[in-house]
Amino acid sequence: MRSLWNDEEAKQFQGDLGLRVYTSRLLGGDKSLVLHGGGNTSVKIREKNLFGEEETVLYVKGSGWDLETIEPQGFSPVRLAHVLRLAELPELSDPEMVNQLVTHMLKASAPAPSIETILHGLMPQKFVDHTHADAVLSVSNTRDGEKRIREVYGRRCVIIPYLIPGFDLAQYCAREFKRQGTPDTIGMVLLNHGIFSFGDTAREAYERMIELVTLAENYLDSKDAWMVVPNRFTPGRVDVNAQANLRRKLSDTAGTPLILKTVTNDRTLSFAQHTDLGRISQQGPATPDHVIRTKRTPMIGTDVARYIEEYKAYFGKHAPQAKEPKTILDPAPRVVLDPTFGLAAAGRTAKDAAVVAEIYDHTIDVILRSEELGGFRALPAKDIFDVEYWDLEQAKLKKGGKPPAFAGEIALVTGAASGIGKAAVAAFLARGAAVVGLDRTRAFSRQAARSPICPPTSGARR
Ligand code: ZN
Repeated sequence: MRSLWNDEEAKQFQGDLGLRVYTSRLLGGDKSLVLHGGGNTSVKIREKNLFGEEETVLYVKGSGWDLETIEPQGFSPVRLAHVLRLAELPELSDPEMVNQLVTHMLKASAPAPSIETILHGLMPQKFVDHTHADAVLSVSNTRDGEKRIREVYGRRCVIIPYLIPGFDLAQYCAREFKRQGTPDTIGMVLLNHGIFSFGDTAREAYERMIELVTLAENYLDSKDAWMVVPNRFTPGRVDVNAQANLRRKLSDTAGTPLILKTVTNDRTLSFAQHTDLGRISQQGPATPDHVIRTKRTPMIGTDVARYIEEYKAYFGKHAPQAKEPKTILDPAPRVVLDPTFGLAAAGRTAKDAAVVAEIYDHTIDVILRSEELGGFRALPAKDIFDVEYWDLEQAKLKKGGKPPAFAGEIALVTGAASGIGKAAVAAFLARGAAVVGLDRTRAFSRQAARSPICPPTSGARR
C-alpha cells in the first residue's frame, strides 16, 4: 500500500483541521481501509474561546459522515478537558456518554461525535486515525490472530483484545497504552476490529497507517495468503424470474420493499461454490460494524423461511442476556450466496444494496486470506449481536430519517432520455425509487452509464 499524500493537493487545505480533512479523505478513498461510514479520525487543536481563554478542542469525526467525502463541518468540536474528565469516571452508560459529548461541543449545529470519541481523546498524540483495514483483519481474524499480530507489529503497536466500542473500551485502551506503550509505539491494533495510528502531524499519522497496513500485507504475502485466487467453479446462470421471486420474498420478510443487486462474477461464483462455504461464511462479519449493513451471516441458497427461523433463534438466544429489552429487527438476509448466481445484496435503496455488495466483496477477501493463514475465525455470535442491537449503531442507520415514498421500489421509464420521460425519471429518483430508463438513443446509454443509480444493461438500447 502506497501513501497518496501529495504536497500540491495538501496545499489546498488550510491549518490542522484542513489537513485533517485531507488525510481523512485519503483514508476514506481506499476501500481496503474503510468502507462506507466505517473508521474515524480526530485532531486536537488549541483554540481561544469567546472569553479569550485557550482550550484544547478535540475535532472528531461526526457520526453519519463518511471519511471519503468529509468536510470540516463533518468534525464535531468537543472540549477535550471534559472528555478527559469523563474518562476518569468509574462507569458511564452509552446514552449518558452521548449526552455528555453532545452538550460539550462548541457548535450546536455540529453532528453528534463518533462513539469512539473518548478513545480518541485519551490518545496523547495530536492526530489519531482509525481504520478497519482488510489486511489487518485478515491476520487478526484467525485462530492464533493475536500471536500473528504481535509477530507483525512487535513493539510498534499496543494490542487490545476485542471489546465493544464505547466507554469501557476507551478506558481499557488508555490503561494498556500506558502499560504496553514504548517510544517505538506508533499504533494500536484492536483485535477482530481494526487499527489506530497516531502522529504529531496529519501526514505522519496517515503515513504510519499506510506503513502499518503494509506490514500486514507483507506478512500475508510472506505466507502466500495475499493474492486470493478463485477456486475452480462452474459457470453461473441468472434466472431473472427466480431473482424477482427472491426479491419479493426478501421484501415481504423485511416488511418493506428492498432492492436486490446480483453480482455474478468469477469471485462471487467461486466463493459461493466453496466446498467449505457453510463453515467460512456462517461465522460472522470481518469487523462487527458491518453487521448493521450485512446482518451477521449471509443466507446460503434461497430458503428464506429457514433463514428467518435461524435469525429468530439467534435473537432468542442473545436478547435475554442484554442489559435492556430488545426488539427484533426484520429477519430478512441482506447477503445471499448461491452456487448458481454467486452473490445477491439487498438494501432499502440501490445505493444501500451496492454498499452491502461492496462490503461483502471485501469480506470475501478477508475470509479467503484468513483461510490461507490457517483458518478464518470471526467473533462469537454474542459480540456481533451486541453491536447489531446496540442503540448507538441503530442510530447510525436511522440518521437518514424517514425513507422517501418510493424507497425500495423500481420504476421502469420508457422514452427516458427527453421530455416527459426524462422528467418522470427525475421525479421517481427524487422520491427514492431506483429507475430503469429505456430509450432509443445511444447518447442516453452513455449518460446513464455515468450515473451510479441506473447503469444501463444490454436491454437499455432498442
Ligand atoms: Zn472501528
